Amino acid sequence: MTTASPSTSETLIHSENPSVQAFMTDLIKKTPHETEFHQAVREVAESIFPFIDANPVYKTAKIFEQLVVPDRTILFRVCWADDKGQIQINQGYRVQFSNAIGPYKGGLRFHPSVSLGTFKFLGFEQIFKNSLTTLPMGAGKGGSDFDPKGKSDVEVMRFCQSFMRELSRHIGANIDVPAGDIGVGAREIGYLFGQYKQMANEFTGVLTGKGIAYGGSLIRPEATGYGCVYFVEEMLKRNGDSVKGKTCIVSGSGNVAQYTVEKILALGGKAVTVSDSTGYVYDPAGIDHDKLDFIKELKNVKRGRIEEYATRYGCQFFANERPWSVKADIAFPSATQNELDEQDAATLIKNGCIAVGEGANMPSTLEAIEVFRHHKILFGPGKAANAGGVAISGLEMAQNSMRFHWSREEVEAKLKDIMARIHAQCVAYGQDATGHVDYVTGANVAGFKKVADAMLSYGII
Ligand code: NDP
Repeated sequence: MTTASPSTSETLIHSENPSVQAFMTDLIKKTPHETEFHQAVREVAESIFPFIDANPVYKTAKIFEQLVVPDRTILFRVCWADDKGQIQINQGYRVQFSNAIGPYKGGLRFHPSVSLGTFKFLGFEQIFKNSLTTLPMGAGKGGSDFDPKGKSDVEVMRFCQSFMRELSRHIGANIDVPAGDIGVGAREIGYLFGQYKQMANEFTGVLTGKGIAYGGSLIRPEATGYGCVYFVEEMLKRNGDSVKGKTCIVSGSGNVAQYTVEKILALGGKAVTVSDSTGYVYDPAGIDHDKLDFIKELKNVKRGRIEEYATRYGCQFFANERPWSVKADIAFPSATQNELDEQDAATLIKNGCIAVGEGANMPSTLEAIEVFRHHKILFGPGKAANAGGVAISGLEMAQNSMRFHWSREEVEAKLKDIMARIHAQCVAYGQDATGHVDYVTGANVAGFKKVADAMLSYGII
């Protein structure tokens, strides 16, 4: 599966709102080459500038101008020895974006494609997402250009230990609490936490997504995918509809995609696609529990290619393609950024798609979002729809502080409640006079307001 071309500078700058246009021109000049970051800021700016115009207190204090500059950006070298004894060198990153409403919080991504612009886009999105969860969490993001694919477990361990030797200077249970993201799952979190614990000689909730044996929360692995389907269910419920009986297309086959498929099944829907970076499989009969177990084993244990699913279950594999041409009611882009472009969005609409839940961060290009908004389908942007993961990370922090564990049922009930509350905030700030909800505006404004109000309280710092 290939990703779409990101928006050009011209597209990122051009706006009907002259304030947005001037702001983006300046931002791109000051931070050249950070295209993904510009895209994330542009999407938020379009919603926030009219809100700031109506509430000049935020304008005078230049809150948005402050928010696009991270509190701190940490770049570091990560040296490790591979299985042949050769020295390998990777780039480490941690962008501590904003601690206005709590300790920096956000995942670590290990993927060869990353750059500073990737982590700035992810960290910026995290500001609004974490605010929407209603929990006290600031925003950060980090990781490395290290590629875990094809590495032995021991190589991954050596890399994680070296990465943490430097990162440990900058994080702490009340300072900055990283978690997983692409390429960072249970195995990597275990190695990272083990190294931190040994160096700091303390056992605190400095990372989330930990194993259950050492302080993890039940439902954390499931939370992003489950939460995304709950969010879509909330959007549909407002229209008197539900996921039950709906055909769904899902991209990705990692953590978020797996639990998205699981919750679609639980709510009576049918998921017919999954993908990875090599292409997608289309299973018209639907992915049932046995097939989902196969995917989990394939991707989490054997670390194989999704084509093996097609071979095992006798369905079609489409090499280097994305699944958006498959006819479906609901789309769940759950792999990576810019994986759904304008043409894909038009195809989804033509095929009768009524809702999109972004499990991934920024999977839809700006042009694709415009198509969804123009056609007024239910579009749940990532910062709202995939906030369930970080929400349960927040609950993992709470349980670690209490030295206590909630049951599976208790955590899932809290997740469901948080997703409903995120949905309600989007409605409160995104509903127009006709009753139509623009979830992009709703999520951006609701997420911004809480952080902005906290910043106003602090004065000029
Ligand atoms: P995983 O590493 O578990 O899975 C990622 C999936 O996306 C894999 O199927 C991978 O394919 C595919 N993928 C990754 N990069 C690319 C690419 N450049 N082109 C095509 N396919 C790609 O990650 P997660 O499931 O955790 O994360 C998926 C998305 O969800 C990301 O955008 C992440 O930021 C977001 N997210 C994750 C949260 C979490 O709790 N984990 C929370 C909120 C958002 P392959 O196996 O071939 O690499």
